[in-house]
Amino acid sequence: MDNCIFCKIANGEIPSATLYEDDDFRVILDLGPATKGHALLLPKTHAANLYELPDDLAEKAILVAKKAAAGLRDGLGSDGLNLVQNNGEAAGQTVFHFHMHLIPRWKGDHAGVGWKPGTLTDETRDEILRKVHI
Ligand code: AMP
Ligand code: ZN
Repeated sequence: MDNCIFCKIANGEIPSATLYEDDDFRVILDLGPATKGHALLLPKTHAANLYELPDDLAEKAILVAKKAAAGLRDGLGSDGLNLVQNNGEAAGQTVFHFHMHLIPRWKGDHAGVGWKPGTLTDETRDEILRKVHI
C-alpha cells in the first residue's frame, strides 16, 4: 500500500519510537497515548483489518503482543493492560492498517477503555445463536 502510513512506519520508512521489531512486526509508541506506554503492534505487510490478516500473521501477532505486554508491565510497573483492536470506522478504527493497541493500566487511571453493559435478553441470545456460525 503506497500511501499507508503504518506500512511506512512498520517498514522503517518513517521513523518511530520502536520498542520491538522482528521480520514480521514492529511495536511502536502511539503518538496519542491513552496512558503512559500505550503501544501499537503493526505487521510489516499490509492488511486493512483483522478480517484481512493472514492466519500465520494472526498467530504470530498474539505471541508478539504477549511479549510486548510483559515488557511494558515489567518496564513501567503497570497494574494491568488492555489489548484493543478496532476494525472498521463503526468500531473506532482510524488507520486502516491492522494494529493492536497495548494500553498499560494503573489502578485509578480513568483511561476510559470500556463500555456500559447492556442486557442479554433470551430473545437476542436465541437470535444470535441461530444466526452466527463460527
Ligand atoms: P485506531 O483508532 O484503532 O485506528 O488507532 C489509531 C491509533 O494510531 C491512534 O491511537 C493514534 O493515536 C495512532 N497514530 C496515528 N498516527 C500515528 C503515528 N504516525 N505514529 C504513532 N501513532 C499514530
Ligand atoms: Zn499498510
